[in-house]
Amino acid sequence: MKRSQNNFILWSMVLMVCLLFIQCQNKEMSGMKIEKKDFGKTKDGVSADLYSLTNANGMEVDITNYGGIITSIIVPDKDGNMGDVALGFDNLDDYMKKSPYFGCIVGRYGNRIAKGKFTLNGKTYTLAVNDGPNHLHGGIVGFDKVIWDAKEVRGGDYVGLKLSYLSKDGEEGYPGNLSVTVTYLLTNDNEIKIQYEATTDQPTVCNLTNHTYFNLADGGASSILDHELMIDADSITAIDETSIPTQLMPVAGTPFDFRKPKKIGLDINNDDPQIKNGQGYDHNFVLNGKSGTLRLAARAVDPSTGRVLEVLTEEPGIQLYTGNFLDGSITGKEGKVYKYRNGFCLETQHYPDSPNQPDFPSTVLNPGEKYQTTTIYKFSVEK
Ligand code: BGC
Repeated sequence: MKRSQNNFILWSMVLMVCLLFIQCQNKEMSGMKIEKKDFGKTKDGVSADLYSLTNANGMEVDITNYGGIITSIIVPDKDGNMGDVALGFDNLDDYMKKSPYFGCIVGRYGNRIAKGKFTLNGKTYTLAVNDGPNHLHGGIVGFDKVIWDAKEVRGGDYVGLKLSYLSKDGEEGYPGNLSVTVTYLLTNDNEIKIQYEATTDQPTVCNLTNHTYFNLADGGASSILDHELMIDADSITAIDETSIPTQLMPVAGTPFDFRKPKKIGLDINNDDPQIKNGQGYDHNFVLNGKSGTLRLAARAVDPSTGRVLEVLTEEPGIQLYTGNFLDGSITGKEGKVYKYRNGFCLETQHYPDSPNQPDFPSTVLNPGEKYQTTTIYKFSVEK
């Protein structure tokens, strides 16, 4: 090789190293970073890690690869004070022992499948039953209780974590090896962008969501009943006493009408049969707009702090769950006691029990197809 060629290669390499260095410096200077620390061991001795993602505005989101759990979300209020708006624990042990699905990835099927049974292509599958007579949130050991493989990801205006998990054929009764990735991106627009993807080697069902409990005022120390909520849905899937959908029910004239913002607490104790069945709000809202397009599904505001949460999703539904089963028996981060209705969830999803309800949008995933859906939780303030 000629000397001039050698020089060219050498200088190109020097230039590349410099560019890389400048890029890293810019990221550091912009404040965007990812820090990783040990988060303890599961009962099988497998290590879990905790990743802290920080964006250019100083918003911080912590995620562990145990269950893909978002353990904290630190955002400013209208005066610029930073505070945690997610319920959770500060150690792995508590997540393993007493978490009511705080912050986790839910799968293989979010919410309920009636009697833990469904039939696909003429074959009936029996799933683990873990909620009265029904299957809930993927069964006894759902995606919220496994260790995910984690890779840090970085882009011009985001930092993130790509989590992967192989759910084996037969796990919790589901057919097919399901290869899942969930990518959490924290953007400089103060969004948590969640990209769900899955493929299978046999026909199966798949419905993934995130189960973060929010409290925009103080992360769970007080009630969420004064939060104002809007959900863009003209109907819900009405439920029976075991929370299985029975039919679509228009929200007009019912406590479920959140089309214009209202306080969560306004109608929550209403003497309504659906409120009774859910013991409050624990229902799937049938979202307006086209499923498959990212659109605003819900907007929550805490008037005391001005914090705003917007949920955008490609999913056809969203489960509003108002912490009806929190009862003060769980103490979480910073000694906060999670009492009745101190947190709420907005779980984007396909409708509960879809595998048994032919009129609902399908949750079947076949080999050769790709399950792909995006949800964004975006934070801001209003004065
Ligand atoms: C369900 C509730 C359940 C809660 C978790 C929600 O998605 O709809 O019924 O109690 O998750 O514990």
